[in-house]
Amino acid sequence: MQIAFVGLGNMGAPMALNLQKAGHKITGFDTVAAPDGIACATSTTEAVCGAEVVITMLPNGTIARAVADDALAVLPEGALLIDCSTIEVDAARAIAEIAAARGIGFLDAPVSGGVGGAAAGTLTFMVGGSEVDFARAAPLFEIMGQKVVHCGAAGNGQTAKICNNMILGITMIGTCEAFALADKLGLERQAMFDVVSTSSGASWSINAYCPAPGVGPQSPADNGYQAGFAAELMLKDLRLSQDAATAADAATPLGALAEAIYAQFVENEDGRGKDFSAILPRLAAMGRKST
Ligand code: NAD
Repeated sequence: MQIAFVGLGNMGAPMALNLQKAGHKITGFDTVAAPDGIACATSTTEAVCGAEVVITMLPNGTIARAVADDALAVLPEGALLIDCSTIEVDAARAIAEIAAARGIGFLDAPVSGGVGGAAAGTLTFMVGGSEVDFARAAPLFEIMGQKVVHCGAAGNGQTAKICNNMILGITMIGTCEAFALADKLGLERQAMFDVVSTSSGASWSINAYCPAPGVGPQSPADNGYQAGFAAELMLKDLRLSQDAATAADAATPLGALAEAIYAQFVENEDGRGKDFSAILPRLAAMGRKST
């Protein structure tokens, strides 16, 4: 397939390379990045010319909408636009409407699995859009990922993504709080891990990504909290979840608190650039009054 890939950053470049390795013809475009091994055009419009499928992997909804406008203006009827960025549910639905009016397919297909998953081709895709468009794109998702879930109509991929990451932010803070409390009560971290990871307090945050160094599986905690999944990306996703919750009048008190804690950590403390599990040393250094 002739594929245009717009947004060749940390995630987009390895995803595009995996498609190319699998035999697809890729023309890329990025306003800054020019990764080795990908032929790049000088604009979205030029990259999209002659493409059957356009994939975008961009920082936010404003940029994704602007790039979608450029692409949709030149794509022929019957083409397919797939946005893999994490953006507002409403922004994804707005792009879907414009695409539908022009007879162009659209899927919102955000991912989890991070930069490692993008390089290894083991991402999880959560996809919103029609059955027909999903079936067309499935072989591409299978190259870039190992798990693909069709979540329903346009915007539902983004909905699944922000709900998942809201749970992740909340459980990570909860896990870190419990470790910090256990420390102060004199419980060894290894004993804490052995109990919780096999008891009802278990979650991905402790079992697969334990925030305590030297305990549990290898995780960013064992590497000085170098990101993995940066605290500012968690803050971005929590903000998207709270914007969506406000628009839908949904009660998400813990999601709102998680957003406030990550905002404080990233914007007023030293959290930017650190892994999102670095909430543990932050809480461990605090007393009750400083939280
Ligand atoms: P990134 O900043 O590394 O890459 C984004 C790229 O888009 C940059 O290279 C930038 O130059 C380019 N860009 C910006 N405006 C552009 C434009 N108008 N036209 C063309 N290119 C443009 O970000 P990333 O880490 O690759 O993340 C991309 C998306 O994936 C984000 O929405 C993010 O939330 C999501 N995501 C990231 C991760 C992760 O671990 N990094 C995990 C899951 C989802």
